[in-house]
Amino acid sequence: MSSSLSTRPKTTSNLPVVADVKAAWHTLTIAQTLVQLETDENKGLTDRQVIDRQQEFGANELVAATSRQWWQILLEQFTNIMLVMLMVVALVSGIFDFMEIQAGKTTGLPFKDTIAILSIVILNGLLGYFQESRAEQALAALKRMAAPKVRVLRDSKISEIEGIEVVPGDVIYLEAGNQLAADARLLESVQLQIRESALTGEATASSKTAETELATETPLGDRINLAYQGTEITTGRGVAVVTATGMNTELGKIAALLQGVKNQPTSLQQRLNHLGNVLVGGALIIVALTIIGGMLPDLLRGSFNLTTLKELVKTSLSVAVAVVPEGLPAVITITLAMGTQRMVKRQALIRKLPAVETLGGVTIICSDKTGTLTQNKMVVQQVATLTAEYQIGGDGYIPNGEFQLNGKSVEPLADPALKGLLWGYALCNDAVLQYIDDQWQILGDPTEGALLVLAHKAGIEATAENYPRVREYPFDSDRQRMSVICEQSPYYLLFAKGSPESILDRSTHTLIADRYVELTEIDRQTIRAQNARLASQGLRVLGFAYRYFSHLPDADSAESELIWVGLVGMLDAPRPEVRAAVATCKTAGIRTMMITGDHPITARAIATDLGIAPADSQVVSGNEIAQMDDVTLGQTIDRVSVYARVAPEHKLRIVKALQQQGELVAMTGDGVNDAPALKQADIGVAMGITGTDVSKEASDMVLLDDNFTSIVAAVEEGRIVYTNIRRFIKYILGSNIGEILTIAAAPLMGLGGVPLSPLQILWMNLVTDGVPALALALEPGDSNVMQREPFQPNESIFARGLGGYIIRIGLVFAIVTIGLMKWAFDRTHSVDYPGDPDTWKTIVFTTLCIVQMGHALAVRSVNKLVIEINPFSNPLLLWAILGTILLQLAVVYVAPLRSFFGTHPLSLFELGICFGCSLLIFIWIEGEKLFVRWFRSKSRS
Ligand code: ADP
Ligand code: MG
Repeated sequence: MSSSLSTRPKTTSNLPVVADVKAAWHTLTIAQTLVQLETDENKGLTDRQVIDRQQEFGANELVAATSRQWWQILLEQFTNIMLVMLMVVALVSGIFDFMEIQAGKTTGLPFKDTIAILSIVILNGLLGYFQESRAEQALAALKRMAAPKVRVLRDSKISEIEGIEVVPGDVIYLEAGNQLAADARLLESVQLQIRESALTGEATASSKTAETELATETPLGDRINLAYQGTEITTGRGVAVVTATGMNTELGKIAALLQGVKNQPTSLQQRLNHLGNVLVGGALIIVALTIIGGMLPDLLRGSFNLTTLKELVKTSLSVAVAVVPEGLPAVITITLAMGTQRMVKRQALIRKLPAVETLGGVTIICSDKTGTLTQNKMVVQQVATLTAEYQIGGDGYIPNGEFQLNGKSVEPLADPALKGLLWGYALCNDAVLQYIDDQWQILGDPTEGALLVLAHKAGIEATAENYPRVREYPFDSDRQRMSVICEQSPYYLLFAKGSPESILDRSTHTLIADRYVELTEIDRQTIRAQNARLASQGLRVLGFAYRYFSHLPDADSAESELIWVGLVGMLDAPRPEVRAAVATCKTAGIRTMMITGDHPITARAIATDLGIAPADSQVVSGNEIAQMDDVTLGQTIDRVSVYARVAPEHKLRIVKALQQQGELVAMTGDGVNDAPALKQADIGVAMGITGTDVSKEASDMVLLDDNFTSIVAAVEEGRIVYTNIRRFIKYILGSNIGEILTIAAAPLMGLGGVPLSPLQILWMNLVTDGVPALALALEPGDSNVMQREPFQPNESIFARGLGGYIIRIGLVFAIVTIGLMKWAFDRTHSVDYPGDPDTWKTIVFTTLCIVQMGHALAVRSVNKLVIEINPFSNPLLLWAILGTILLQLAVVYVAPLRSFFGTHPLSLFELGICFGCSLLIFIWIEGEKLFVRWFRSKSRS
């Protein structure tokens, strides 16, 4: 045993039971600990005690302390290049206003552009700030939904509770894969290994044991009788009593030092930042060109005109404001947030925001079989010993059912082999069968639950008291078996269960007519044939063997020279809804692969049933993968979709090989060892119900119902999100280009004056564009999102004609508005024009707003005409359009707003022209769709 045992203090029993030793739990014996905590090892806390302690100690929660201060987050928002540009615009605009006030020719509110722009900057900054902190909170809340559950003993009953409800004194059960919910003193430990990297930074797991007390000065990392909150049980099992919860735990004490949740920008957000740089660069070029172009005629004549320069600088300011899509960040964040919400409604819980977008591009889903593709409600249907094959009746976990031999009902305990097998399965078992809420339920692994139910059907209710477990070799997917050693004095009995291969490999004898005989090669063939027969029916097959010892054997050699007893075949029916989901994936260009630890024949039977692979398809095993080099593996994954007897390290290789071929991989996993594969996959998917805490921690998404169908649903939602984002980027940027070109053209055409003031542009970008864009973000999604190929993983968001569309529509916008601008300018400058000569600007302004209403309708679908889409399928958009038109009319016709925005009233005729121009552009966009349709049908025939 470890050397720290030698430091064991000899006088621990004399320790006074007083408050100040509470910090030194590692120095106490188990008995002292229980006294100190006023709890009972065999009964747990009473309900009364739990309520009292919940009041005294509060919820078992870490109050997260972010590493960044709130003001740092806030300041960061203002470092965005587009906001910096707006601030410069506000400053220059303020200087201009100041000069005009000095010159005594003020009109309307002073500094209103500056104030408006600065308000937008501040608003944008605040919005960014709240979104960032809200997003953190929302993700934290989602994470809590997937937070570890804890198995506790309270009032002599075992139940599963939320980690947050644990109180000091609770007796809790520890199992491989769990993350500890609180600090605890071990009461029992079996091969318990815990990884304490969360606390000590030490990556390898350390062995833990209950049977010791340690010296006071033992450092944290060596306190082998304690288990700490946030650490991970990698192997083994244990029972412990909670010593501290919440912020009183060791992790709680250092929680303030922990890194806060880092908000990773999604690839889309990164691309938008990049877009920001491009836009600002483009703006500077346009500004330079406008100023040079505007000044050139004067300069060529050798004169310099300050008024012209001032006009040109003013124009530049407007261009700069027009370039920034002020409404876009808000719309995108809202869309992503709504996406996570819709996904969680469909049982897919997003743990990392970038996953929302990534999901839309998934090209391959690698799924576990058990529980994901199947129901994980196992029922043992057959038992096969070397001499007899039994059929077992009954339904689900109800422990009633007949044993039949050759169609006749039999008494199971009459056959000694069967009796031994049933006892062994019941003892080599960590599941609990309980009758709760009027139904039989399993706590623990369904495979083991099914074996427990089988034993109960024969009337065996094995209790650990009669056969105390003295040692345990836990199950993991690499070993594919589990064994226990139980004491039955004066003997020790080892029971082993697991995949038939792994058990048979370690068996040398069998029991025939009460005599031990050596297993012959013929026996082994019979067993393999039995296994194949059961597996080909899609059954999950487990072998069973045992062994007697007169002394407790050596730890390493105990699982050998076993006595083979028999096999069980359990039915784990495919989930009925999965077949349709696999078919949906096919039409969506997504390949489904099955990667399971189960037997190849079972795997193929289920894969065939679900339509993942044809009946004669090849199944590759983990061993075969281990033999392959990367090139061969790369070729194999192209052809083969079903992998069996796979260990977690093979999963990692499969993911890497797929990614090498440019695939975007979603991979499921539930065990501790699956974490590397989950991290490596583009979308790591953990199981909400059966998954270990460690696998959830490593994942991007958690399936609340463990169901394959939910992955497909999440992919569908991901595609909708991506399509919607593309849609409103198309919508917003197209009009931005139109605005910029129109503004820049004005001085070059010699129309003294800037058509749009910064204030008006902000109004358009935020309100008249922003509101419909928000409604577009809520588009229900085309019915065909799952009927087309996935987007290429590294494809630009502007790919597939989006960039071309934006430029094309921007130009059409510009041509129509520039033509209109010329007409309106001439009209309002004619001698008999009744209104203000500046009215032309309002005509341009209003047209640019109204055009976007038709555009919003048309942009809903790439190929369907507006008249072909049900207008009420997105009623919000209709309201947004109606509201926006009314707002714009208010800006033109309500006097106070008019003076604020610097507009002039339009005659009915002029308003009609505005709507007419908008209609023109609307017709253009719809015409494009018709043209593409005609062109496609022509090239097809
Ligand atoms: P999967 O869940 O994909 O079927 P696993 O790695 O969990 O794969 O299981 C692999 C094999 O190990 C199973 O086919 C079964 O034979 C065996 N097995 C599964 N669970 C247990 C268990 N609790 N105890 C012993 N053996 C098990
Ligand atoms: Mg499993």
